[in-house]
Amino acid sequence: MICIPITAHTNQEAIEDIKEASRIADIIELRLDYIKDPDLDALLRGRTRPVIVTNRSKRDGGDFQGTELERMALLQKAISLDPEYVDIELGSVSKFKDLGRTKLIVSYHNFNETPKNITQIHNDLIKSGASIVKLVTFARDITDNARIFELLKAAHFPTIAFCMGELGQISRILATKFGGMLTFASLAKGKESAPGQLSINELRDVYHVSEIDCNTSIYGIIGNPVSHSVSPHIHNASFRAMAINAVYLPFMVEDVGRFIESFKDIGFKGLSVTIPHKEEIIKHLDEIDPLANRIGAVNTVINRDGRLVGYNTDCPSASDALEEILKGKGGWNQKVVIIGAGGAARAIAFGLKEKGAGITIINRTNNRGLNLSKEVGCNYARFNEIEGIDMDVLINTTSVGMFPNVDESPVPPTILKNGIVVFDIVYNPIDTKLLKEAKAMGCIIINGVEMFLRQAALQFELFTGQKAPVPLMERIIKERLLR
Ligand code: NAP
Repeated sequence: MICIPITAHTNQEAIEDIKEASRIADIIELRLDYIKDPDLDALLRGRTRPVIVTNRSKRDGGDFQGTELERMALLQKAISLDPEYVDIELGSVSKFKDLGRTKLIVSYHNFNETPKNITQIHNDLIKSGASIVKLVTFARDITDNARIFELLKAAHFPTIAFCMGELGQISRILATKFGGMLTFASLAKGKESAPGQLSINELRDVYHVSEIDCNTSIYGIIGNPVSHSVSPHIHNASFRAMAINAVYLPFMVEDVGRFIESFKDIGFKGLSVTIPHKEEIIKHLDEIDPLANRIGAVNTVINRDGRLVGYNTDCPSASDALEEILKGKGGWNQKVVIIGAGGAARAIAFGLKEKGAGITIINRTNNRGLNLSKEVGCNYARFNEIEGIDMDVLINTTSVGMFPNVDESPVPPTILKNGIVVFDIVYNPIDTKLLKEAKAMGCIIINGVEMFLRQAALQFELFTGQKAPVPLMERIIKERLLR
């Protein structure tokens, strides 16, 4: 169930928001503490959805301006109008005697952390005489969500539980999978009642939250940062189009080991891995595909009955994107310059070396570039030597030119000779400065979407064993990147 809190400041606005929310939510939370002089009759009369009445003090993250006695009196008056539910904090619940037909939600909020004793707090909430208990904490680390999921799984009492904050957003999406009674969504951006609350549009249109149940499989992307990743949009839309009961989430992960340890039991089925974890993830896997092992970087993890297996889809997707163009230029026997020596460069260099290309790596940090060139068995050059290098193909694998630094290019335009192939794996923006300059010089250009789309499709196939809906994926990538 999705509950939309009403956070308007006037009766008129609140009545309009209730009307709009009633069209899309299963239940409404009327936040009396936000409304100046609430007109309870007008707010509760003629409602078409069940309502939770809440009047939060500042201490509990609310905005009630009066005294504690006034706060209680307003709640008591609201209860006399028979709302379906009233939410009262654990510390205040003993002050209410007669609730009539209204069901009691007893709540605990912690805006600082997810304390160690959440099970004890949950038990205290249950003992308070509640019909439903609500336990909401703040996630300081992605693994705090896993503790809330474990609590929900073990709960034998109607419970609402999730984490607040950006790191807690995944618990707002997944709460109902683990038995949580409902999740909260704002009516629109800017109308949130708590930190990290997602909008109803995001919950419904991106994550299809109403369709999540105990059988929904969990996938996601681990990285830092991940909040702007396009992958949740691509994979969730693809799952839906293929009628697969699965959800794909952004996991903002700082410590890969801790994440794997606490989420393996939660039961994820597959992961995309992005900056900066593609190499670090390897030591937490049970098995690595031979290609990913040679490359030394993994961007896809599959959970096969508890065994984590790593793959690299960056490598074949970059080769594929290039192959189509190189077919018309005599095949793989080309002089290729790769700028960069990070995870993507590694995958591309190993892949192209196996195809037979002659490779020169150039990198800002010489040691890192030299080491990669030794591992691959190719040439290395310094940045200031690039003018003198004869090349058929130039590949940018650095993040130079990526949003927001869209006015940067990794190389001077003078090296971009007519007829060479210039492949920029940066895909946000699609038309990077490097590609614009290359096009102007008469080069053949390949943009990063060509690789990104292919690697996403390969990941989807590894995740599900089914062919990816490539045209849909392409449309979503372009829609998101051209916004
Ligand atoms: P990474 O492992 O962090 O490597 C980043 C590389 O960029 C390093 O070689 C780094 O050089 C270089 N670099 C960063 N800032 C630079 C600067 N200001 N000047 C010169 N060099 C700079 O990252 P990654 O995973 O390889 O990803 C790199 C880029 O590729 C990102 O933009 C990512 O979005 C994109 N990518 C695209 C696809 C796709 O499917 N199209 C797939 C994977 C990655 P140092 O060694 O000197 O730090």
